[in-house]
Amino acid sequence: IFDEFSIKTLIRPVVDFPSPGVIFRDITPLLQSPKALRMVADSLVQRYVESDFSHIGALDARGFIIGSILAYELNRPLILFRKQGKLPADVLTESYRTEYGEAFLEVHADSLCEGDSVLLIDDLIATGGTFIAAAQLVRRMGAQVYEAAAVIDLPELGGSCKLQDMGIPTFTLTAFG
Ligand code: IMP
Repeated sequence: IFDEFSIKTLIRPVVDFPSPGVIFRDITPLLQSPKALRMVADSLVQRYVESDFSHIGALDARGFIIGSILAYELNRPLILFRKQGKLPADVLTESYRTEYGEAFLEVHADSLCEGDSVLLIDDLIATGGTFIAAAQLVRRMGAQVYEAAAVIDLPELGGSCKLQDMGIPTFTLTAFG
């Protein structure tokens, strides 16, 4: 069973990282607890085990960790959405703003086809900029986003609301206000 309290206690607040005034939510203690990581993975597997999306789309970099567990458990193809300059073949690029500045997200141009449906995974939703960029890339390939899932939501930064306004359902396991 999912115990939100024990998951929350394993997410470490780091004050003033990466810049003054920001509280960074650090999931490395959660990753260091096999029980907690299993609880997170199992809850997501349970949520999606009957779902009919075609692909898992994992967001650079902590989305890769949970995304690969889900791709393995649910037996779906895994697509990587990466920061600029990391993918070797032909890419599509979207710019986005994070809490901290402008960045670019890329995906291999041949990774999805029209009609595909993608479950997007990351560790955290803040302003939603990263998930929105990934969603634009998915849509540019003629595919659709099934849902955007993360471990943590920071609802005060408005990302999950913005995604829902764009017609993208979101799911998170916990939130910090
Ligand atoms: P957004 O694009 O503003 O929603 O920011 C989410 C992206 O930035 C995700 O890829 C997160 O991994 C990263 N991020 C932003 N803030 C935090 C944080 O407090 N802890 C961990 N990752 C964060």
